[in-house]
Amino acid sequence: MTATMGEAVGIDVGGTKIAGLRVSREGRVLARRTVPTPASDPEATVAEMVRVASELRTPPVVAVGVGAAGMVDVGTGVLRYAPNLAWRELPIAERLREALGLPCQVDNDANAAAWGEYRFGAGRGYRHMLLVTVGTGIGGGIVAGRRLFRGAHGFAAEIGHIVVDPGGPLCGCGNRGCWEQVASGHAIGRLGREAVASGDSSLIAELAGGDSAAVTGQTVTEAALRGDRTAVSILAEVGRRLGVGIAGLVNVLDPQVVVVGGGAIAAGELLLEPARAAYGVAVEAPDHRPPVPIVAAQLGNDAGAVGAAALALEELGARRG
Ligand SMILES: [Zn+2]
Repeated sequence: MTATMGEAVGIDVGGTKIAGLRVSREGRVLARRTVPTPASDPEATVAEMVRVASELRTPPVVAVGVGAAGMVDVGTGVLRYAPNLAWRELPIAERLREALGLPCQVDNDANAAAWGEYRFGAGRGYRHMLLVTVGTGIGGGIVAGRRLFRGAHGFAAEIGHIVVDPGGPLCGCGNRGCWEQVASGHAIGRLGREAVASGDSSLIAELAGGDSAAVTGQTVTEAALRGDRTAVSILAEVGRRLGVGIAGLVNVLDPQVVVVGGGAIAAGELLLEPARAAYGVAVEAPDHRPPVPIVAAQLGNDAGAVGAAALALEELGARRG
């Protein structure tokens, strides 16, 4: 067996970027290539994924894994639906196999990130793990009994689209008040814009150049990390909503650990501490169950691509028996 026999390309494809990594069997990142996603053009997006994989495949890799932002039929590698993008019924695995001549495994991006954290990050050593990715939206991945739990069709763990506020803000999926509308980076940004519009936070306003429309989740996090009280209270409110939602998921799944990743985790304990407190109140019978740690993810933005590569290698190994 040559040194490269255990290497794969992992690609994490979302609405803003295509992040490709060359990954070893041990989860080490050996090379990386990131390009913007031409998100409004699904065919161009696939072409860019092929280009990224081509640039990372020498010396030879044995497989390509993809984590894609949407509902993926894992058996066929077809991305069926992306709530926040124009992608519908996109045969990603088939296109990549044809273009690259390599085995290709496609999964949901948060499932891939969950597998990355479980194998090489904050979920190592556990058997039952829930990953919650808090970015613009909220994604989820479930490891149950050391296996990725995908449900009957590969659509499990679409936790961001649990309706928690039926009269709430409109979601990209068409519903109102999905969890990701009230407890994500998107929600942090919205509360920040409202605070600036009502004259509540001078630092958030200053960081946004005085333009309330320019406030994002990152602006609020930056202000909070510098001690701005309004920004800190916004993160506390969103953290609380996160914790209540996590309590519901723990009631259903009974994991050993909850790993929180995604861009919003840049806020660190400012988000996690209120989430833990709210979880502790909301979970069923907190005094009669073992504590469930709610911890920050460890692989950062690499989790999805690292996990996708690992899933592709494991699928290949399983097929070769
Ligand atoms: Zn939704």
